[in-house]
Amino acid sequence: MTIWNLGSINIDRFYRLPHLPGPGETIGSTGFSTGLGGKGANMSVAAARAGAHTCHIGAIGSDGLWTRDRLLEYGVDTRFIADVEAATGHAIIAVAEDGENQIILHPGANHAIPQQTIDAALSTAATGDICVMQNETTMQEGTAAKARSLGLRIAYAAAPFEAEAVRAVLPHLDLLVLNEVEATQLTDALGTTLMDLRLSDIVVTKGAEGCLHIAREQETHHPAIKVTPVDTTGAGDTFTGYLLAGLDRGQPIAQAIRQATRAAALMVQREGTADVIPDLKEVQDAQF
Ligand code: ATP
Repeated sequence: MTIWNLGSINIDRFYRLPHLPGPGETIGSTGFSTGLGGKGANMSVAAARAGAHTCHIGAIGSDGLWTRDRLLEYGVDTRFIADVEAATGHAIIAVAEDGENQIILHPGANHAIPQQTIDAALSTAATGDICVMQNETTMQEGTAAKARSLGLRIAYAAAPFEAEAVRAVLPHLDLLVLNEVEATQLTDALGTTLMDLRLSDIVVTKGAEGCLHIAREQETHHPAIKVTPVDTTGAGDTFTGYLLAGLDRGQPIAQAIRQATRAAALMVQREGTADVIPDLKEVQDAQF
């Protein structure tokens, strides 16, 4: 089967600074690096590395052609990444010596994904495929509705959180993945409990505590693996990508969660995001 991911592609630009700039201040950076990022791209890489045929639906500008090559290199099907006349989505990440950071996120091409690209992708999808979205692009609601009408299973990672965006896709969802903070934001915004949403599956990730799986009337806690974290960035995206790959392979959700938990535990021990997501063999062989 195929995982269709309508998702963001970002260029992450990291600048090391002695301290974060104040208003009007100019500071020379002491280090610079660039990497592939964006919740969508991270999730596609994770699902592909977990062995699933993963097709990314998105858009980039002429300044980001290398991001598509990188995704392809990591095993992602990139046929439905459109070239548009906008800057590729990017994040300017300033990291001060004391570890504090400041991020400017420009959505660019992520907010200009052509409708015909989405339509062309979904026209080749098959019943039982999975369609996943996050909240760094536009077009989620229409895509979820269309994909559902075609018999796809619909998953949504509610990040970055925006109550209206979640409210709009909720009626179409089979699986909702969110972290603890987003879970509280959602229940506050809707004035209900997660169980009252009566979705087939909701997974709330809780960092070092693991995650909670809510399936209609049943709640199951799955513990995390005890490791010493180095950098937790991308742990959530890796978890979700692996979870979807397990479901795509036909695993029961508890088994898919166990594999996702192992992948995320490896990920928190690494610095970086898309470029360091572990593959299935590493996850299976890991000695925890
Ligand atoms: P991020 O935004 O940093 O990618 P998130 O907030 O979406 O992460 P988390 O709940 O922090 O997601 O983590 C996702 C999963 O990663 C957890 O359910 C857990 O399995 C694993 N994980 C996160 N932090 C740790 C940790 N310190 N030790 C072990 N596993 C962890």
